[in-house]
Amino acid sequence: MRPSVLDPLFAPITALPGIGPRLRPLYDRLLGRDGSPARVVDLVLHLPHTVIDRRWRPKLAEVRPGVLATVEVTVDQHRPPPPGRAKAPWRVHTHDDTGDLSLVYFKGDKTRLERLYPVGERRIVSGTVEMYDGMLQMAHPDRVVSVEDAASLPALEPVYPLTEGLALGHLRRAAAAALARLPALPEWQDAAHLARNRWPPFTDALRTLHAPAAPEDLDPESPAWRRLAYDELFAGQLALQLLRSHMRREPGRRSLGDGRVRDRLIKALPFVLTASQQQAVADISADLAADTRMIRLLQGDVGAGKTVVALIAMAQVVESGRQAALMAPTEILARQHFSTIARFAEAAGLRSALLTGREKGRTREAIVSALAAGELDIVVGTHALFQDDVAFKDLAFAVVDEQHRFGVHQRLALASKGEAVDLLVMTATPIPRTLVLTYFGDMDISSLTEKPAGRLPIDTRTVPLERLPEVVDAVGRAVASGARVYWVCPLVEESSEVDLAAAEDRAALLRTRFGTRVGLIHGRLKGSEKDAAMASFAAGDTAILVATTVIEVGVDVPEATVMVVEHAERFGLAQLHQLRGRIGRGDKPSTCLLLYKGPLGETAKARLAILRDSEDGFRIAEEDLRLRGEGDVLGTRQSGFPGFRLARLESHGALLPAARDEAAAALAGDPALASERGRALRVLLHLFERTEAVRLLQAG
Ligand code: ADP
Ligand code: MG
Repeated sequence: MRPSVLDPLFAPITALPGIGPRLRPLYDRLLGRDGSPARVVDLVLHLPHTVIDRRWRPKLAEVRPGVLATVEVTVDQHRPPPPGRAKAPWRVHTHDDTGDLSLVYFKGDKTRLERLYPVGERRIVSGTVEMYDGMLQMAHPDRVVSVEDAASLPALEPVYPLTEGLALGHLRRAAAAALARLPALPEWQDAAHLARNRWPPFTDALRTLHAPAAPEDLDPESPAWRRLAYDELFAGQLALQLLRSHMRREPGRRSLGDGRVRDRLIKALPFVLTASQQQAVADISADLAADTRMIRLLQGDVGAGKTVVALIAMAQVVESGRQAALMAPTEILARQHFSTIARFAEAAGLRSALLTGREKGRTREAIVSALAAGELDIVVGTHALFQDDVAFKDLAFAVVDEQHRFGVHQRLALASKGEAVDLLVMTATPIPRTLVLTYFGDMDISSLTEKPAGRLPIDTRTVPLERLPEVVDAVGRAVASGARVYWVCPLVEESSEVDLAAAEDRAALLRTRFGTRVGLIHGRLKGSEKDAAMASFAAGDTAILVATTVIEVGVDVPEATVMVVEHAERFGLAQLHQLRGRIGRGDKPSTCLLLYKGPLGETAKARLAILRDSEDGFRIAEEDLRLRGEGDVLGTRQSGFPGFRLARLESHGALLPAARDEAAAALAGDPALASERGRALRVLLHLFERTEAVRLLQAG
């Protein structure tokens, strides 16, 4: 049972003012965990990634182009677009005692602008200033207030990661409303430890991050952020340790199998397993056959062939008359795994099915009852597999494709659907070796270190955006020779509307040349529409798929041999690497064109160069980490710990050993978490939704 003090946080997001049925889906998409509706807590833990600093109040003579400034000016004159030039902007001429500034509005509305800027009055305007025709100008100021209202202009405004269609201002107001509802929580950390680190209380830390008093407050190294990250890591370590002691108490079962299904399966594969795939299969097979429970991590870069390894292991369990499940974090990924698995499983006589949130009504009932009756051997799905009415006849093996999202509790939830379930966690996140054990706990590890044979290296090139016409020509040649092309448009988090427009514009531009052979996929589409777009690309009906990164380009299309990424400089390296992993999967050479908008800084250049020169996910991750220290701000969201919301590998990894030791100490002194601090720790576990761990605790 969740302590009632947390109720306001676990209320649906619609409990907040201003979030009704229209906006709810957007908040769900941005914040919903594993497809479930967003709650207040999800917003509270959704931290800004940067701040806009409006504290600089220069005179116009001091303003520097390209820099955000907040200036006080007097309105001189309105200049509507000249007749017949509807595309020209509306200009408002202003000055202060040191210079002139022209405010520029494209598609400006006369009534609104004349009301906003009465001639002769003074206004404080804030925005980015640029030079145009020798004139200082500011296009679409972010903020305009009268001098009397100066106090209403916030000095620092948090900027949050957004989703298509959700306005920053709305999210800011919602976050402020959510913070206002923070309940008073008991302190769960050791007072001396807090004092030593000068860490604030949990709720103060949250307030600091959402309403920073200085940009430094939003640094992952700030006391506020470190405090929160530590709490999260601590909760994770508590949960892991509870799980471990629980699993140690419960013996495993042997799933020996007789090899018949595995033989058929391996014969049906149109390729030979790599040496490291064979090694991983052998490791897992031995674990399944042993009478202890398996907790193993299967690590391997995108495309290394993890799914096939998992499938062979599943076959062994099925030979033993039992069932296996594979869970993926998103529907697209679940579908991809299922398509890989179903293709080979059928040939081996394995009965498999897919169960996600989209299987409904009769279809779903049929799958659920077949699972319970043992008429299905393998089920692949999303979090939909956790639902209470999903029961197995005899689940013996759970595979969890972690892909950054699941935490311990979800692995447990799946494991609790069977008896002594063996657990395999798959991850493509290259976690530095030193951290694997601490982060994942006592897990055994198998690594896929080589790419499947026959894969050709991807020719990666960096190309300035100005050469777009040549890129389009090259794409034309590739398409003419039968290639399939992913065209990825970036997500600029400040303005997701604009992003979608950018992808739509790009698709429109490409359609003028390639007509109906151009498909478009983005986060605003319904699940079935996304599937349809992916399916026509996979079938070759469309040859160019324009995508925003809101969608994971997650489906395996071996014929796709070209990827164009626009504004590659805006992406995290890990994300680019993951994206690029979608090509180079077949037996034809592949090309990845990273289009960047120059001029690039030294770090940005170095980052793209790493990607150009390497296809090794581990190396890329390490170099990325190294360069991050040099002031890169973009792409930080990709660097989270898998399964964690606030803790970041590079900034907070060093806190892990302390979290592990303190968690062990807390449990050693109070194994049932029954003391006053123990009860506070239960609140912490619930807050970070390590609820399955609490359940184990109650079971004793
Ligand atoms: P991962 O899950 O590690 O990203 P997958 O298991 O999805 O990789 O494999 C990617 C693709 O490579 C799939 O189409 C799969 O059938 C294929 N594949 C897997 N192993 C091999 C192999 N040894 N040789 C050739 N192709 C392989
Ligand atoms: Mg896979």
